[in-house]
Amino acid sequence: MIIKPLEKPLTISKLETLLRRIDKNHPKRPQIEQDLAKRLAGYKGEQSMEYHLSFLDERKYYILHALRLQSSSNYCFQMDVLILTSTYFLIIEIKNIIGQVTFENHFAQFIRTLNGIEEGFYNPLDQVKKQNLRLYSFIESQKIKRPPIKSLVCFTNPQTIIRSDSRVKDSQSVLHAHNIFSKLEDFEHQTDTSIFTENELLKISRKLLKKHCEEDINILHRYGIRPEEIIKGVACPSCSYIPMNRKSGSWLCKVCNFKSKDGHISTLEDYRLLFGTNITHLELKEFLGLDSDSTTSKIIYSLGLKHCGSKYRRIYKLK
Ligand SMILES: [Zn+2]
Repeated sequence: MIIKPLEKPLTISKLETLLRRIDKNHPKRPQIEQDLAKRLAGYKGEQSMEYHLSFLDERKYYILHALRLQSSSNYCFQMDVLILTSTYFLIIEIKNIIGQVTFENHFAQFIRTLNGIEEGFYNPLDQVKKQNLRLYSFIESQKIKRPPIKSLVCFTNPQTIIRSDSRVKDSQSVLHAHNIFSKLEDFEHQTDTSIFTENELLKISRKLLKKHCEEDINILHRYGIRPEEIIKGVACPSCSYIPMNRKSGSWLCKVCNFKSKDGHISTLEDYRLLFGTNITHLELKEFLGLDSDSTTSKIIYSLGLKHCGSKYRRIYKLK
C-alpha cells in the first residue's frame, strides 16, 4: 500500500523558478543549473523505483516515499523509501548514477568512473547506516516497538556497472532496482515472527506521515541572491517571455501575442516559491508590474486571499 506517494520535491520547483527569474548571464546560474540537474537525476531515479515498487503486494508492504523526519536532536534525515512490513522495516537509498561504481573496503570509498575519469562520492552504505541509526532512535522516541531495520542501496539505471572489493561486508545490500523482488523474497524467508498487526502498521504509518517535514529552503538565501536581482512581471504561459502587459482585463504577450486571463496566478506561484507566502498590496502590485492600485485590489479580491493585519499594513497569504 502506498502510504506516501512520490511527489515532485519543493526544492526542484524552487530551483526551476529561480532559473526562470534571474538574468541569463547571472554568475550564479551555472551552479544553480548544476544543482538542479543533480536533483532531477535523483528524482528520476526515485520515479523509476516507484514503478518497481508499484508491483508489490499491497497488503504486505506499506510504502513511504521521500519521508523526512526530525530526530529528537532536531536533526532532519530523509529516506528515499521506507517500507514497513509486519516483520521488519526497510530503508532504501536510491542512486541514479551512470558509469561504473566501485565500493572499496580499505578507505570505505565509493568511486564512480565515467569516460576514464574517477570521482569520489559520499559512500551510500555509510549513508544508510546513519539513516538506520537515526530511524532507530526516532522509533524509540515515538514509543514504537523496535523491529529489525534493514537497508538497501538500489541503483536505478540498468546500465550502471556495480563493482565491489571482495572485503566490502555489506555488498549484499547493494543491488539493481529491478532485483528488488528477489531481495524481498530472501528477506521473507529469513524472517518469520510477526511483530506488527496490519492495524499497528497503519497506525505507525499515520504517525510517521504526521512527523514528515518537507525540506523548505530559502532559495535566495541559499545562493546569496538579492531580491532586486529577481526579474519581476507576469510570465507568458506560451513563450515564457516576461513581462506580459495588462490590457482590458487580460494579460497580453508582445512577443507571441498570447492572451491570458489568469497569467498572474502562475507568476504569484513563482513569488511564493522565491519569497514565501506573505505578500503586501505594494509587493503584489510591483511583482505583477501593475501601475494601478485599483487593478491590484481587484486581482487580490478575485484570488480570495486570506489576510491579517490592519488596512495599511495588511499581509496577504498566497495559497
Ligand atoms: Zn509569449
